[in-house]
Amino acid sequence: MTHKLMILPGDGIGVEVMAEVRKVLNWLQSESGIAFDISEGLIGGASIDAHKNPLTDETLAQCRKSDAVILGAVGGPKWADVDYAIRPEAGLLRLRKELGLFANLRPAMVFDALVDASTLKPEIVKGLDILIVRELTGGVYFGEPRGIEDLGNGQRRGFNTQTYTTEEIQRVGRVAFELARKRRNKVTSCEKANVMESGKLWREEITALHKAEYGDVELEHMYADNCAMQLLRRPSQFDVIVTDNLFGDILSDEASMLTGSLGMLPSASLGKPGAPGLYEPVHGSAPDIAGQGKANPLATILSLAMALRYSLNEGKTADRLEQAAQAVLNSGTRTADIMAPGCRQVSTSGMGDALIEQLRKTKAKAA
Ligand code: NAD
Repeated sequence: MTHKLMILPGDGIGVEVMAEVRKVLNWLQSESGIAFDISEGLIGGASIDAHKNPLTDETLAQCRKSDAVILGAVGGPKWADVDYAIRPEAGLLRLRKELGLFANLRPAMVFDALVDASTLKPEIVKGLDILIVRELTGGVYFGEPRGIEDLGNGQRRGFNTQTYTTEEIQRVGRVAFELARKRRNKVTSCEKANVMESGKLWREEITALHKAEYGDVELEHMYADNCAMQLLRRPSQFDVIVTDNLFGDILSDEASMLTGSLGMLPSASLGKPGAPGLYEPVHGSAPDIAGQGKANPLATILSLAMALRYSLNEGKTADRLEQAAQAVLNSGTRTADIMAPGCRQVSTSGMGDALIEQLRKTKAKAA
C-alpha cells in the first residue's frame, strides 16, 4: 500500500525542518519498506511570492487527494504588510477550514532527557504524557452574532457568541474517547458549566455520549479554570483532555510549556474518518533564526510520527520514530534551543542525521 503525502514546507525554518522530514521519509521508504507517494507544494509567504495567493486551489486540491498533509510553518516580516485577506496565515486557516479539521490534538510529553528544560520541578513533570483534544471549528471564535457596535453615547460594545451544537460536541468527544482507549483510558472534559449554557450543554452531551458508547473509558468533568490550575499542580493526573476552542487554545499552550521547548512540540488536526489529517509543529517560522541551521527539526519529525499513527495506520513506525528521538536526546545530542551543559550541540541537519543514525542502529540490532 502506498501512502499519499502532501508536504508544505512554508516559510522560514519551515523549509529547513521539512528537509529533515524528507530525510526520514527517504530512510523509511528505502529501509523499512513503507511506500510513500510524496507531493510538495507552496503555502504562506512562499505561495504569495509565486502566485499572489497564500494557498492556491491547485495546492488545496492536492491536499484533499492526500492521506496526510505535513506542514512546516508560515509567515514572516517580509509579508507583514500584505493585504489582510491574503496574508500567509490566511492560507493555513483556509486549509484547516477546507479540510474540515474539527479536532486539534496537542500532546504534551516530557522526554526524560529534557526534564530540566521545564519551568516546573522535575518530580512534577517527569514522565508526563498528556494529550489535549481541542475543538477547532466552532465556539466563540466563529459564533454569530459578533462585532463592535457604536452605542451612540461615546461608548462602544464588542461582542462574540459562544455556540455549540450536539453534533459538534459529540464528534470531538468521540475523537477523545477513541484516543483514550489507545492510551491510559481516561478522558477529562473541561468547560464552564457553572456559568455558561454552552458549557452545560457540553457537559450533558459528553455525559450522554460516554453512557451510550464509551462506558469502558473513565470520564471526569472539570471546570476549565480548575484544569488550568491542576495542569501546574499535578499534571500527571491527566491522560486525554477534551475541551472547546477557546479553553483549548489556552490550556494546550499552558500544557505545552510544561515540556520546555517550542522546538519539541508536534500537533495533529483531524476531520471526518478517512479525510486527510494535517500535521504541523506548534512553532512558527522563527524569522530570528531562519536560514542559520539552528532550528530544532524534532517538532516536525514528531508531527510526521503522529501522521504515521493517526492517518497512515503505521503505529509501529510512529513508535520507532519517537523512540529514536528519545534515544538521540538521551545520548546528549541537542539543537541550540534545548542545549544543556555537557551535551553536544548540533545543527538542524545534524539532528536529522543523528535521528537517521539511531533508526539505522535500532534496525541493525533488531536484525
Ligand atoms: P515562533 O514560534 O516562530 O518563534 C518563537 C521563538 O521560538 C523564537 O525565538 C524562535 O527562534 C523559537 N523557535 C520556534 N521554533 C523553533 C525551533 N523549531 N527550534 C528552535 N527554536 C524555535 O513564533 P513568532 O516569533 O511569534 O512568529 C514568527 C512568525 O511565525 C510570525 O509570522 C507568525 O505569524 C508565524 N507563526 C506561524 C505559525 C504556523 O505556521 N502555524 C504559528 C505561530 C506563528
